[in-house]
Amino acid sequence: MKILVINAGSSSLKYQLIDMTTESVLAKGLCERIGIDGHLKHSPLVGGKPVFDEDLPLPTHSEAIAAVIEKLTSAEYGVVASMKEIDAVGHRVVHGGEKFASSVLVNDDVMAAIEECIPFAPLHNPANITGINACRKVMGDVPMVAVFDTSFHQTMPGKAFMYAVPYEYYQNDGIRRYGFHGTSHRYVSSRCAELMGKPIEELKIVSCHMGNGSSIAAIDGGKCVDTSMGFTPLVGLPMGTRCGDLDAGVIQFLMNKYGYSIDEMLNILNKKSGVLGVSGVSSDFRDLDNAAAEGNERAQLALDMFHYWVAKVTGSYVAAMNGVDAIVFTAGVGENSKSSRAAISEYFGYLGVTIDPVANSKRGEDIMISTPDSKVKVFVIPTNEELVIARDTRDIVG
Ligand code: ADP
Repeated sequence: MKILVINAGSSSLKYQLIDMTTESVLAKGLCERIGIDGHLKHSPLVGGKPVFDEDLPLPTHSEAIAAVIEKLTSAEYGVVASMKEIDAVGHRVVHGGEKFASSVLVNDDVMAAIEECIPFAPLHNPANITGINACRKVMGDVPMVAVFDTSFHQTMPGKAFMYAVPYEYYQNDGIRRYGFHGTSHRYVSSRCAELMGKPIEELKIVSCHMGNGSSIAAIDGGKCVDTSMGFTPLVGLPMGTRCGDLDAGVIQFLMNKYGYSIDEMLNILNKKSGVLGVSGVSSDFRDLDNAAAEGNERAQLALDMFHYWVAKVTGSYVAAMNGVDAIVFTAGVGENSKSSRAAISEYFGYLGVTIDPVANSKRGEDIMISTPDSKVKVFVIPTNEELVIARDTRDIVG
């Protein structure tokens, strides 16, 4: 079975074609500047075919999907003979609200329900819907599955997902913690259980997804019981450019003092805050590491804040679960920054964590970076959201 995995943004579309017999990626690529002019980078990963990396007109997502299918099936760049070989399509959808606690086969009712979730993710869900509609148009009756970033977190109990505001805002308006990065947290926690050789039902895991956007999840017996992102992906840890947790009074104070509109204020909190805002240097942790090494104190402060928050939230989840068996680092920073992993792990001495510096220096593979006698195991597990989407699609389409 071959499954096309699609992650559609407002002007971009990422894809992978995965052969489920071996779970290997046959080709992957990215359409960019959709609706502006258009560019496609298509990389076949089998058969020694060349990479296609050129501008081409992509007025809408439909042309983008059509271009992807053309490349996947072409003699020069293709990895399959025709579209008939693509058995199903799995779509990443950011927000499923409380309607979706698991992945689903796309039909008109599901599309309507995803549309109802637009107010919760006004930038992302419309793009995801456009991607699904474009695929349905170009690919006809090939079955499609929607996989939600939020669904893994639907197991959180009320005490974790409720905000302490008047109850009717939850009842009438759906104001609550939803959480994001669920597909990533699900993948790394189940991989962690495999690496530990234990059923996930017996494990308490804290999963730290640390990328441009970062979130932590507490996973008890395979079920998410708490997570750091909330109603939106703005909160929790300080991130590349997002502020993380913030006293709402600060918003009122700054809006009054500087006359910002709510859109201007949210733009500052989403795009100009986080480690970028604190350091004044960059949102990229590589730049921060370099600047801190050269003595830039604000870059060091931004890094210290990030590490402290990861440790603090992790500690709160150890309390919430009354214990922890393993801590997992994943995503851009988690997979690549040995200095951040080491700095965060320094806080875990009380858990009996000891890190093996040699293991912590390795990159690009699933690895246990704690010493064999460490009471709590610490892993680096490269995330693979596309594989989770493909597996769910296979399981649902059968
Ligand atoms: P996204 O949230 O956009 O999916 P990623 O998970 O790809 O982001 O993470 C991107 C971030 O990973 C970059 O902004 C950068 O800060 C960080 N990163 C990547 N490589 C390294 C590295 N070698 N050392 C430190 N940070 C890194």
